[in-house]
Amino acid sequence: MAKHAVSSAVCQGNAICPAGCIDSCALAQKLKLRYDAAEIRIGVYGCPNSCLRAGRCRKQFDLKICGGQEVDIDDAACIRCGACVRKCPSGALKLREGNISLEREKCLHCGICERVCPVCAVTAKPGYLVQSESEENRRMQFFRQEEELFYSLDQYLGRR
Ligand code: SF4
Ligand code: SF4
Repeated sequence: MAKHAVSSAVCQGNAICPAGCIDSCALAQKLKLRYDAAEIRIGVYGCPNSCLRAGRCRKQFDLKICGGQEVDIDDAACIRCGACVRKCPSGALKLREGNISLEREKCLHCGICERVCPVCAVTAKPGYLVQSESEENRRMQFFRQEEELFYSLDQYLGRR
């Protein structure tokens, strides 16, 4: 069955949701204009959380773009309380021998560590998390800038 070019905002992102990292509707509109002829279905989500509505729609798309956070920890500001380590859903954060460490390959870009840190030692910068939904090609990439995201999508669709 032929796929149609669809870019849909599954949720409204930071326009209404405190967890949203990007403006999903604005991005979906740009994708529609840019990839009108492409045979791909792209779902746009405000953040990596699986809230009810977004979770139900997930299977409709070939590619998923979520807002996400690139986090960094200021070692000097960290008081080693362990709150971020306990809340991190992927085990990317570790507190060993008094040192906090972040394993970037495991990070899901959810930004929870930034929200729970009591001394604001974690900084989070918004960006775009791209996930392929096909069984044979599951992969995840994070882009800080919209230009990088579009460049990568162009490559994915064989336009570069
Ligand atoms: S952004 Fe989320 S997954 Fe990444 S280190 Fe922080 S809590 Fe863990
Ligand atoms: S929550 Fe903040 S202060 Fe506590 S260990 Fe994590 S970065 Fe350090």
